[in-house]
Amino acid sequence: HEVLLDAQDIRKTFGNGVKAVDGVSLQVHRGETVGLVGESGCGKSTTAKMLLRLLTPDEGSITFAGADVHRVRGRKLRELRKQLQVVPQNPQTSLNPRLTVRQSIEFNLRAHAYPKREWAARVDGLLDRVGLAQRHGAAFPHEMSGGQLQRAAIARALATEPSLVVCDEAVSALDKSVQAQVLNLLAELQRELGVAYLFISHDLSVVEHISDRVVVMYLGKVVEEGPSHAMWSAPSHPYATTLLSASPGQGRTRIILRGDPPNPADPPPGCAFHTRCPVAEDRCRTAVPLLRTVGDRHNSACHLVSVDRPAAMAATV
Ligand code: SF4
Ligand code: MG
Repeated sequence: HEVLLDAQDIRKTFGNGVKAVDGVSLQVHRGETVGLVGESGCGKSTTAKMLLRLLTPDEGSITFAGADVHRVRGRKLRELRKQLQVVPQNPQTSLNPRLTVRQSIEFNLRAHAYPKREWAARVDGLLDRVGLAQRHGAAFPHEMSGGQLQRAAIARALATEPSLVVCDEAVSALDKSVQAQVLNLLAELQRELGVAYLFISHDLSVVEHISDRVVVMYLGKVVEEGPSHAMWSAPSHPYATTLLSASPGQGRTRIILRGDPPNPADPPPGCAFHTRCPVAEDRCRTAVPLLRTVGDRHNSACHLVSVDRPAAMAATV
């Protein structure tokens, strides 16, 4: 499949010295779902903002369907915005409280120059697609449940027929049962429409459900990336292994991480995970591990792993 979104070695340091994103490369292919996971402060939101053109990287490049995301202008920029939509975290605030759901969706249709005579039919179709009743079109956000609002936000995002939707903690605020419904809806819409998702979440159990590939970040860097099935059955990096052990219902023994994530303004030298890693060695305190291949399209940044020894520690300890 064709590469749709391609970020190469992007970096962002904030004024307070925090290297929020420290050399991240990431691809999303057409029709694929990529999960981007990590604890809060790992840089996944900053990465998403750079991909969405809300923040300019200090270094590195981001292309979308071949166009430079941070340089396109005019007609190509409008096309980029149409093709790249977002479902934000908070359904309570992501929709304008003064607009009905129908008006919010129409707003996006107008912004992308869909002829007015098509709006009504398009909105009817979108409401139907996301499992909302027609009467919800006339509702204001405060009249709807969290799950209904997130369906409305999905309808608004899909209105412009995007090829990629960035879902930024899109189900984190919802109850588990509603989460499952929204995730199923997203999967169904993908089968129908062929849309790709970049699914950002701190919650691995959510990402596990929906992703074809997973990218795990720690302190501004990618520490592991690979096909979901390989990651879940045999995580490679000790951080991914501990994260996964905390995911419920897997029959895994939970590995508790020591301590809090380090201060991103003053990351530990060597492997940034060494202060919490259950299997750290002396060299981890000085030498930075680089991403290397441990399996088919599966990479991991840990001194202890290689193709011959793909996992640094057992998934159940
Ligand atoms: Fe742990 Fe060392 Fe691997 Fe880092 S490089 S994850 S500290 S074993
Ligand atoms: Mg964040």
